[in-house]
Amino acid sequence: MRVLRTALDVPVAKLFDYLIDDAAPAAPGDRVVVPFGARQRVGVVVEIGDGSAVAAARLKPVARVLDDAPRLPADWLEQMRFLAAYYQRPLGETVAGALPPRLRSVKPLPRRREQAAAPGRGAGARFVASHQPNSAQATAIERIGAALEGFQAFLLHGVTGSGKTEVYLRLIARVLARGGQALVLVPEIGLTPQLEARFRHAFPDARIAVLHSALEDAARTHAWLDAARGEAQIVLGTRLAVLTPLPHLALVVVDEEHDASFKQQEGLRYSGRDAAVQRAKLADCPIVLGTATPSLETWFNCSAGRYACLTLAERAVPGARLPVVRTVDLRTESAEHGLAKPVTEAIRARLARGEQSLVFINRRGYAPVLACEACGWAAGCARCTSHLVLHAADRKLRCHHCGAEQPIPGACPTCGNVDLRALGRGTQRVEETLAALFPAARIVRIDRDSTRRRAELARKLEGVGRGEADILVGTQLLAKGHDFPDLTLVCVLNADSALLSTDFRSAERLFATLAQVGGRSGRREQPGEVLVQTRYPGHPMFEALARHDYAGFAESQLAERRSAGFPPYVHEAALRAEAKKLDSVMAFLRAAARLLPAPAGVRIYDPVPHVITRRAGLERAQLLVQSASRPALQDFLRQWSAALPASAPKTMRWHLDVDPIEFD
Ligand SMILES: [Zn+2]
Ligand SMILES: [Zn+2]
Repeated sequence: MRVLRTALDVPVAKLFDYLIDDAAPAAPGDRVVVPFGARQRVGVVVEIGDGSAVAAARLKPVARVLDDAPRLPADWLEQMRFLAAYYQRPLGETVAGALPPRLRSVKPLPRRREQAAAPGRGAGARFVASHQPNSAQATAIERIGAALEGFQAFLLHGVTGSGKTEVYLRLIARVLARGGQALVLVPEIGLTPQLEARFRHAFPDARIAVLHSALEDAARTHAWLDAARGEAQIVLGTRLAVLTPLPHLALVVVDEEHDASFKQQEGLRYSGRDAAVQRAKLADCPIVLGTATPSLETWFNCSAGRYACLTLAERAVPGARLPVVRTVDLRTESAEHGLAKPVTEAIRARLARGEQSLVFINRRGYAPVLACEACGWAAGCARCTSHLVLHAADRKLRCHHCGAEQPIPGACPTCGNVDLRALGRGTQRVEETLAALFPAARIVRIDRDSTRRRAELARKLEGVGRGEADILVGTQLLAKGHDFPDLTLVCVLNADSALLSTDFRSAERLFATLAQVGGRSGRREQPGEVLVQTRYPGHPMFEALARHDYAGFAESQLAERRSAGFPPYVHEAALRAEAKKLDSVMAFLRAAARLLPAPAGVRIYDPVPHVITRRAGLERAQLLVQSASRPALQDFLRQWSAALPASAPKTMRWHLDVDPIEFD
């Protein structure tokens, strides 16, 4: 008796058997409609089996085999199996999460508008060069270009403005000329219309599929199908694009590989970067990880000789230099409304010269705390362990963790004092201060409150690029990928909060953020300057930043991590849980820690509540499992995740996060 073993999107880690219909034979990789309970579902055939553990009388036949999309290829199924096993999720959920919603539905696929015939392989490879590569770029192109035949991981370590994209484009041109497909992954906020336009300009005849989660269903489905049919020569997308079948995949690029948005934070908690490396291995093609500030994991892989490191140490525009980085000592310089005198003077000088300034503060809203100085009350979120952020423009208090909002109270709810104080500052308050200091300046604020939509952000940034602003105020949204020719000054206001964080990754992230945001300045002939306000001007991180010495910084961080026993010297997984009562969460985690004896070389830590213990009304805690051996950790996780479901109370929400990066 022959059966189809199918992966279905149900929350159990098993495959489901169905009888083969000889009139409509199916093979692994086919999507099939099958009866499941009272409904029909779309499953993916994973294997063909002889016999079944299910009694023959209870086996149901497949309803129909879908042929509206190409059969999912073997290497794609292999990738899905790997991800499901590595991240400890059911294969059915993994497969379903990788397919666009329409391919999981029993409804027919949307019809597409008429389109030109698909180009043949190798067609559409015309490359329009915008400029000649400099010698460092040329060396990188030659080194990687000589290795197109098999798997090899490259770190392209290029300072901000060094022209990494030009290297990607020229490598892609070679791959397209050979009939291959290129996959280019960028961070969530890196996928801008400007980047897409640059690719379309460089490859005017190529078919480019753009994939990200904000696309409408039909557009995402068509882009996915173009890629899966091998018709799209370039796939440009955020992390989910790594889950697309690409029959002729010949080059993978991960731009800004250090970016935290490559890690999915729900369901299959995969790292898009790590999945991309695995994908390149399966396709036996090179992968290029590009960044000015590599993740310490990637740097470690270079030091260990697993990845080849190529360096672009100079800016690509002739004459453009890296900015001068200086600290402004807040212990000796008084700051008025959060801005120290050297900072306001530097902005004034730029205004006089008609140049642009950027004021960076990684906190949106008006002020992070509204407090009563008479009794010590501070506005807190009823559902989270956090303060409510004051948003002055729409007169609201808003929780940045759960989204709850309420009007600003007229008086202290505890003592009745009407003189409530806004403590600290966010982007809105800084904007207000700058407007008072420089009434004639055109000030543009860019954060998630001022720019909710991708297109709006792009429009604002374009305006800034055309010189329609004198001072930019903004958050992380401003840090990446934008080129503002007239920007010569970057002021960083609150770096110290990250410096004092307990998260062992905070120094790495702060260095990356400051290097990125500082890198926005001086990208043309005028030199750039970065001023960092801090109470710790002698901190080694600032000294490394001022020397543009990523390598020195990375080596000192790695030395610290090695002695403290942190990644990348150990591998980790976190078991996180949340429920109404912290007691029950801790009890579940304590029981989970004792569920299996820890094997040799695997360490199970005691559970601890999250720093923000309550979020959206649920109490949260986690426990960490560590091992210096990845196989030992994986072995343990496999057995553990099989045993955990039976031990969890019905009301407990929990998940495993393998290689976690967030610990809030
Ligand atoms: Zn009070
Ligand atoms: Zn809240």
